[in-house]
Amino acid sequence: MTASLRDRIEAWDGESVVVSHDAPTGTWIFIALHDTRHGPAVGGTRMRSYPSPADALEDALRLGRGMTYKWAGVGMSFGGGKAVLGIPGPLDDDTRGGVLDRYGRLLASLRGAFRTGVDLGTTPADMARVGRACDYVMGLTNGHPEDPGPYTALGVFVGIHAAAARVFGERSVADRSVLIQGLGDVGLPLAEMLSKAGASLFLTDIDQDAATAAAGRLAATIVPPDELFDTEVDVYAPCAIGATINPDTVDALRCRIVAGSANNQLLADADADALHERGILYAPDYIINAGGAIAFGRMAEGVRERDQLEREVSEIEGTLDRIFAEADEADESPLHAARRLAERFLETGPALVG
Ligand code: NAD
Repeated sequence: MTASLRDRIEAWDGESVVVSHDAPTGTWIFIALHDTRHGPAVGGTRMRSYPSPADALEDALRLGRGMTYKWAGVGMSFGGGKAVLGIPGPLDDDTRGGVLDRYGRLLASLRGAFRTGVDLGTTPADMARVGRACDYVMGLTNGHPEDPGPYTALGVFVGIHAAAARVFGERSVADRSVLIQGLGDVGLPLAEMLSKAGASLFLTDIDQDAATAAAGRLAATIVPPDELFDTEVDVYAPCAIGATINPDTVDALRCRIVAGSANNQLLADADADALHERGILYAPDYIINAGGAIAFGRMAEGVRERDQLEREVSEIEGTLDRIFAEADEADESPLHAARRLAERFLETGPALVG
């Protein structure tokens, strides 16, 4: 192992890292197990190419830590972990399948220390393939993959209600204007729920066809991607890429609430403070976008009824109510209150966290 890999692992605050080099393809596999005090590590499998193995490792370490906070923030007894498959470049289907088969056997050899699901660059079909080699893929029903998107969308939908209650004194989203960026697995079902609830929708996507189809069906207004920050709305719901809240955009935002599913919405934590100073309420991403994780986590524990899963995902609303109240009292960004909530869970475990 090169010094740069070793140094990064030794400097990390997590528990252990599984490193594997897939010789037939040159793929580096890093499984970062961050904190398993309250349960086995669970997190997605990311597959993409990186400038170097060290960059792939760095992503795994950062994302593994993020999962610890996500599980703790929503009070679920799983540990934080993440897998990164750093492929050398685009792979043809057979080669890709071979990597996934060998990755599945690697997970089998870990005997449940890490359980996984889809993430950037992997598809539900990929996970079904991995699941043929091991029992540690979440969200499979009889080998067929479930879609976490609608559960994640439900969490964002109820989270927007919590934010509206805090900012406008009314929980209802009827007649609230919401700008959704990204109409994929999460953004589209979110748009449908908001439309049904009477919100006025503004939709943007770099895929013009996706935006046009959704806007036509939901009587929404299309916003060209480069006019995103010129649009005045009550809620901005980032449901596409990360880091759309950064020093270049914070002052340009024309909304009262930021509440969406995208991971890592802030370029840095300081951007949350900048939003707070501008009087824009920020729903911490790893809380509001935890719906799919909660549903898959509970499915792995044997809960299968959709109603019950949806009820449990909907608890995100109460969690955010508490986070917003604590942040209000301390006159600070909800990001800090969310982190304290997660840290209390990590310290005390599930029993003592209300
Ligand atoms: P997706 O790939 O299905 O959809 C993303 C959509 O965003 C696509 O329609 C794409 O064209 C569009 N897009 C990409 N870049 C854009 C840009 N610059 N401007 C406007 N639109 C753009 O992804 P998804 O599963 O819907 O996830 C959306 C976000 O939510 C991601 O950040 C993801 O990490 C996060 N997230 C998803 C889940 C889930 O359950 N799928 C769970 C937690 C977090």
